Amino acid sequence: MPPAFFVEVAVPLPIDHPFTYRVPPGLEGRALVGMRVLVPFGSRKLTGLVTAVTDGSSLKGREARELVSFLDDEPYISARHVDFLLAAARETLAPPGEMLRAALPRGLPRKEAPAAARTESFFRLAPGFPPEGLTPKQRRVADAVREAGELSASDLAARVPGGPECARRMSARGLLLAEARPRPASLSAAHLPDTSGELVPTGRQEAALARIGVAIASGAHAAFVLHGVTGSGKTEVYLRAVEQARAAGRQSIFLVPEIALTPQLLGRVRSRFGEGMAVLHSGLSPAERAGQWRRVRAGETFLCVGARSAVFSPFPALGLVIVDEEHDAAYKQEDGVRYQARDLALLRGRMEDAVVILGSATPSAESWHRARTGAAALLALPERIGSSGMPAIRVVDLKARADRRGADRFFSAELEAAVDETLARGEKAMLFLNRRGFASALTCLDCGTTVQCRNCQVAMTWHQEHGALLCHYCNVKRGEPEACGKCGGHKLAQVGIGTERLLAWVAKRWKGARVARLDSDVTRRRGAYAEVLSGMQKGDVDILVGTQMIAKGHDFPEVTLVGVLLADLSMAFPDFRSSERTFQILSQVAGRAGRGGLPGTVILQTLSPEAPCVRKAAQNDFQGFMEEELAVRESVGYPPFGRMLMLRLWGARQEAAREAADEAARELSGPLASLGIRVLGPAPSPIARVKRRFHYQVLLVAPPAFPFGEALPDLLRPLREKARKSGVRLDADPDPYHMMV
Ligand code: ADP
Ligand code: ZN
Repeated sequence: MPPAFFVEVAVPLPIDHPFTYRVPPGLEGRALVGMRVLVPFGSRKLTGLVTAVTDGSSLKGREARELVSFLDDEPYISARHVDFLLAAARETLAPPGEMLRAALPRGLPRKEAPAAARTESFFRLAPGFPPEGLTPKQRRVADAVREAGELSASDLAARVPGGPECARRMSARGLLLAEARPRPASLSAAHLPDTSGELVPTGRQEAALARIGVAIASGAHAAFVLHGVTGSGKTEVYLRAVEQARAAGRQSIFLVPEIALTPQLLGRVRSRFGEGMAVLHSGLSPAERAGQWRRVRAGETFLCVGARSAVFSPFPALGLVIVDEEHDAAYKQEDGVRYQARDLALLRGRMEDAVVILGSATPSAESWHRARTGAAALLALPERIGSSGMPAIRVVDLKARADRRGADRFFSAELEAAVDETLARGEKAMLFLNRRGFASALTCLDCGTTVQCRNCQVAMTWHQEHGALLCHYCNVKRGEPEACGKCGGHKLAQVGIGTERLLAWVAKRWKGARVARLDSDVTRRRGAYAEVLSGMQKGDVDILVGTQMIAKGHDFPEVTLVGVLLADLSMAFPDFRSSERTFQILSQVAGRAGRGGLPGTVILQTLSPEAPCVRKAAQNDFQGFMEEELAVRESVGYPPFGRMLMLRLWGARQEAAREAADEAARELSGPLASLGIRVLGPAPSPIARVKRRFHYQVLLVAPPAFPFGEALPDLLRPLREKARKSGVRLDADPDPYHMMV
């Protein structure tokens, strides 16, 4: 074998290939995949990561510059992890260097931050204490320690300024006993008493765990879809699966959609596993994050809990990845490198022989399809554990109120009466309104039908400036229809009401009730989220009004009524997933009612009671809904029966952005047609002007499992280059989630 004189290096820049550098003589032994290197780049020096060691044949005679130095003695990340990150970059069409920057704490630092102290001193009184002749400060320290029985250095510092130093001197003299122990990971999660260790798994849980256990023990990749309604014991299965992996000497990643929204879950995981786990959340300082990352890399912990970026946890022997609430759109990263953490979890599971569990009460169409086709195994937990079962759901047709005005239009007599009765019983109500669906679709107030594009099966969006409806997939334009295409009715309108207006109405209607609101406007204020939640927990709120945020995993036992003001809002999204999303949201919101032994009621108001997502949600029929939904998807070749990629073009000048989008669509449609890919658009993004940039999108619809990462980069490079010259950026967004920018 020729000696390795060259290395390929990824630098954290938006360039989609690595660079080759010569290894200085004498340093060949350090030329290893995963080492950080300092390399000359133009007139600068950059930190890069070695992605391959080569004999230089790829240079084809070109000269290579010599790298400046290796920054590590041992690889910064393992070769195996580098492989995964490169594959992830390919899948997401991201430049490898940008993927590294997204996946590593502080990007690729030139110096690894010094390790924070991992242990902390704990003090106790020495036997035979107290001796005579203590200084006043020593006396204060001794009192604090005696009071607590045992006190950590940081807790002591909070009580006696300078206390730890004093205590250390005292322990050197034998007055105190000091012991160094691992420092607890800082976690601001609710701490729940751990009783679950003694739980006896139900038969269903047992069956699921047996299959997961066999897969983990086999050491090969397997994917599971864990379908179970809220409260059916999924979390218990996750925690025991983590234990199974631990027993097999492997580590686990536990992904949650948003860590700030899951304090109850975090508290549970923590009380089970104590301080031994790592947690990645946005509240960590960069140094803390780097510290957690290092513990993970060293395999000092067997579990890392975090939001989507935790899928990059560099464990040495990953055995299990759990994706909780796997249908949640929060798993899609939309800034910078656009990746879907659930998909990367599956990719990683395949590459590292790890088991992947996708858990949800309402699995995504993609995951359900995997289970139907055998690509994943289905594990079902169909019943709630020990409660009064699923709430009764009543659908109320709102069309009768179409001629009312304002918020009154959105309050049926049934819902009013139900709130009255709930309050009279001293119980609580939640009113849900998905105000983000404010998007201006036109809905027939007589039959509830939303005007849809005939080509694309998505809601069309009203553009005031054009005085027309546009399809945001194919850009077909049509004037305001005279009448509803379905029933011939003439009352086509944008239906609009927001949580703020709703709260005002509620406060006026139920004067004595304590009301609160929860949505992203409220939670912009720091601490507001926790405040409202704790108010709910303590029973200080009678009626909570809010958006999706109220639906996420909270367990408020006194809530017995959930009212959905207008189920239709999320159906009016110009997005092929709008029906799926509506079903998920409705199921989730409904699941909030009657969690604590009291029977729950859900009133679901809608203009379109016949829509499958409303009907099936009311019947608690996930499977039935999915079968209908998948049939629709199949008929138009949408995911999971096809693969999409959104090209997003944006710039400060509208004309330039539109031209670049036109050009992209024109140039691509020929070569892509021969690959069986349809090119739709360009169309202005639903919100054409975001942050003073004009956005256009071109949608590619490809056959299922089409390898965008292989076929597209060469086609996109010249387009991207040309667009850049006119001040327009072209981003590729494979498997797009938010079809609206
Ligand atoms: P999910 O994650 O599906 O919402 P959880 O795992 O949180 O469900 O379980 C719901 C409740 O039931 C929790 O309070 C949990 O402690 C309890 N629980 C779970 N498994 C069992 C069991 N085998 N026996 C008794 N209680 C259980
Ligand atoms: Zn269309």
